Amino acid sequence: MKNPFEAITGIKIIKDEPISKHTSFHIGGNAKFFVRIYSIRALKRILKIMKKRKMKYFVIGAGTNVLVSDKGFPGVVIKLNGFFTKIKRRGNLFYCGGGVLIDRLLMNVGEQGYGGAEFLAGIPGTVGGSIMGNAGAFGRSFAEIVDEITIITQKIIEQNLDNKRIGFGYRNSKLKNGTIIILAKIRFAKKRRKNIMAEIKRNLKYRWQRQPVGYSAGSFFKNPLPYSAGKLIEECGLKGLRVGDAEVSTKHGNFIINRGKAKSSDVIELAKRIKKIIRDRKGISLKQEVKILN
Ligand SMILES: Cc1cc2nc3c(=O)[nH]c(=O)nc-3n(C[C@H](O)[C@H](O)[C@H](O)COP(=O)(O)OP(=O)(O)OC[C@H]3O[C@@H](n4cnc5c(N)ncnc54)[C@H](O)[C@@H]3O)c2cc1C
Repeated sequence: MKNPFEAITGIKIIKDEPISKHTSFHIGGNAKFFVRIYSIRALKRILKIMKKRKMKYFVIGAGTNVLVSDKGFPGVVIKLNGFFTKIKRRGNLFYCGGGVLIDRLLMNVGEQGYGGAEFLAGIPGTVGGSIMGNAGAFGRSFAEIVDEITIITQKIIEQNLDNKRIGFGYRNSKLKNGTIIILAKIRFAKKRRKNIMAEIKRNLKYRWQRQPVGYSAGSFFKNPLPYSAGKLIEECGLKGLRVGDAEVSTKHGNFIINRGKAKSSDVIELAKRIKKIIRDRKGISLKQEVKILN
């Protein structure tokens, strides 16, 4: 296919780009078009062309909560750069682009003496991806700090949604597929810089001690509250279980690790086996936290 976006400025297009280069699992076939977008104007123009040509698209943040098919994606993968990675402060409200990385946000805000979201330290995603899935840790989540977001809908309408209308739930939101989060208004509190940095450090240390290293997408399953998915998997003796190069981490039962050459199909088969065993032995049905993009 000829490049349909040739006339648009403010973007960078790569044809047949391996999505594996953009996911923490290091898994995924090629995207027909991988497009880096630097401005709202360019984003709207691209969306108009895709709508007219009925092209499929999805937004990728840091790619830390997705499992992309080995067949790749036959449409457009959108990556938000430029304007979408900016952070601006007005009082204790921070206006952050959807492509801002969480750790960068916490450091930027912390340096200015604002905090309150240190519990997010070490989550390797972006603001957009983390709002979409209401990322969190230590029983807390993104929902606590978001005042409002600006989205572009699939119909290419720009809208502001307040916290309630985002519909945050446990590791999810009610935002529709195809919605693009371009900006978030996040509320922080004035705090001592020294205390903020110490808390971030503590939380990072806690993670390094408990999380396995290696290619993964973090916790693969949602916790079937009040139970912990990792504990259930461990109790069933599934640590180390393997399909191809996909392995249940020997350190943390809820992490599936790509030991190097795992295919998406290996991870899916391994997840299927884990689910069946947990259902049979514990009577609990596990649900994936990771978004599967086929
Ligand atoms: C080592 C490790 C540790 C982790 N620890 C945690 C943890 O403690 N807590 C936790 O909740 N998660 C954790 N995760 C999972 C992941 O980091 C989070 O879910 C994160 O919020 C995903 O953000 P992302 O930018 O990588 O999203 P992606 O994986 O890129 O995308 C996730 C979903 O969001 C959509 N999306 C991305 N950006 C946008 C946007 N701008 N607008 C609209 N939709 C968008 C995508 O289309 C996709 O559906 C961990 C992952 C890893 C690898």
